[in-house]
Amino acid sequence: MTGPADAWRPRLSINQATAETSGTEELLDACVAAGVPAVAPWRHKYVGGDVRRTRRALDGRGLRASSLCRGGFFTGTRSPAEARRDNRAAVEEAAELGAPVLVLVCGPVHDGRPVAAVDLIQAGIEDLLPFAADHDVVLAVEPFHPMFLAERSAIVTLDQAVDLVERIDHPHLGIAVDTYHVWWDPRLPQALERAAARTVSVHVADWLVPTPSVLTGRGLPGDGVADLAGIVGGLLRDGYEGSIEVEVLNEDVWATPVGALVGDIRTRMAGLLDGLEVVA
Ligand code: ZN
Repeated sequence: MTGPADAWRPRLSINQATAETSGTEELLDACVAAGVPAVAPWRHKYVGGDVRRTRRALDGRGLRASSLCRGGFFTGTRSPAEARRDNRAAVEEAAELGAPVLVLVCGPVHDGRPVAAVDLIQAGIEDLLPFAADHDVVLAVEPFHPMFLAERSAIVTLDQAVDLVERIDHPHLGIAVDTYHVWWDPRLPQALERAAARTVSVHVADWLVPTPSVLTGRGLPGDGVADLAGIVGGLLRDGYEGSIEVEVLNEDVWATPVGALVGDIRTRMAGLLDGLEVVA
């Protein structure tokens, strides 16, 4: 059964990385004004540095947290004990916010050994999962574009994320599909089919030509060349039931007044998604 043409609207969310330089309450007010019902907070942007104040700020405006960014970094420069402590704190904060999903940036390959990094990532996730399940928070493995292999994530294709999540196979583990990270993949259609049932978070950003920066060169939906409607539409058609977060790290976007920015994003997403088939 399919829903009405705008069935995606209650599922729209602004990922806070899109408004990195705006105040958190300013962003929440902009979402209320634009009719966007959810936000994905980042941990360094809590209102007054306090997760409970952030929850109250959401509740007071009738907004919800679609996910929390971020946990992970099971590999890299910090010790396993430090990673464990920080990831447990992130799970507790997600629960405090009422965010159903904690997004994992899994951690880089720092010694030239991708397979070893993936093993460490799997062990870290398996260690964290019982704690996440106790808090009813779903962990989401986000595959990154391969250009981030040495800095952010050893999980660099959607297939690789599905393989990892299938190997662990736990009800509190899923996948975050970010259009910016996966759009280039020649195996994407098959990978999306594999991923659909395990996808718990969707991030939308476009691929600009030329790309001005690896980290902060992402485009607003419609400004680039990625097949956003194909990717998001395919997931919706295949039964993805979660939120659709717009996550655009871009200094020009950050310089836009946040009220105008959120309104613009809502208009762009309507252009992208209105009329797409959505399983209701
Ligand atoms: Zn993302």
